[in-house]
Amino acid sequence: MPGPMEGAVAVVIGGASGIGWATAQLLAAGGVIVVIGDIDVEGGRKRAVELGGRAEAVRVDVVDEESVKAIFEGAKAQHGRLDIAVNCAGVNLPGFITDLEAQTWQRTVDICLTGGFFVIKHAARAKTAGGSIVSITSLNARQAAAGFAGYCSAKAGLAMLTEVAALELGDRGIRVNAVSPGLVETPLVEGLTGVPAIQADFTENTPLGRNGLPRDVAEAVFFLASDASSWITGEVLDVNGGAHLRRYPDV
Ligand code: NAD
Repeated sequence: MPGPMEGAVAVVIGGASGIGWATAQLLAAGGVIVVIGDIDVEGGRKRAVELGGRAEAVRVDVVDEESVKAIFEGAKAQHGRLDIAVNCAGVNLPGFITDLEAQTWQRTVDICLTGGFFVIKHAARAKTAGGSIVSITSLNARQAAAGFAGYCSAKAGLAMLTEVAALELGDRGIRVNAVSPGLVETPLVEGLTGVPAIQADFTENTPLGRNGLPRDVAEAVFFLASDASSWITGEVLDVNGGAHLRRYPDV
């Protein structure tokens, strides 16, 4: 029997790796036709093959507005509908503020914030009405991390952009939400999870006591993408094992 999402069409930007790939897998398992958009188009193509005949891959650079516009218009033209847009593209280029080069700051903001704006803008333009747009912010949107000024600032901006877009698009029935993960084991953070002191600090300050797996986050994205969340918009959902909670010494 077909599931409720059978035949829906989703574009997953950043779908070649990590959280985006886990999301693409869940959507495809739910009967959704998945268009993987990634700057790593070879990686995206391999993923699409893994998903079988209902998936395809397109090269997208979220910083390039034309390529973002093209993937959403192309998906709509090819499949006749566009239901779900998920934006998982991101980079976390480090640097302390006093040493941070302007171009490093700009690159992070371009990918994590301006790219998010392009995705929401062109997903909403390609949709006629209804459907769901989901972005990935970060625990670092509200918990500062020294050495990641550009990343923290861009993700905080993306969280606010989510709320503004939800206000503007609600009358078209388009829901706009975000998922805010803690430390998730993906290639993006190998440089952090590989440092014992950083890893130990996160584990100690996370009530559920472990890192996230891409699937943990993808399940939340799936929920926000599906009609199970039909009355939720403008929400930034923490998915971090409780790492946003302040821990005081035990009494
Ligand atoms: P990842 O590196 O595994 O995947 C990111 C994907 O984005 C890659 O496939 C990459 O090729 C693609 N990408 C990068 N730049 C792009 C661009 N300019 N245009 C198109 N695609 C581009 O990382 P991930 O951990 O799965 O990250 C997914 C999202 O989750 C990111 O926005 C990241 O900031 C966010 N996030 C990750 C963590 C974590 O701990 N892994 C925590 C909080 C938030």
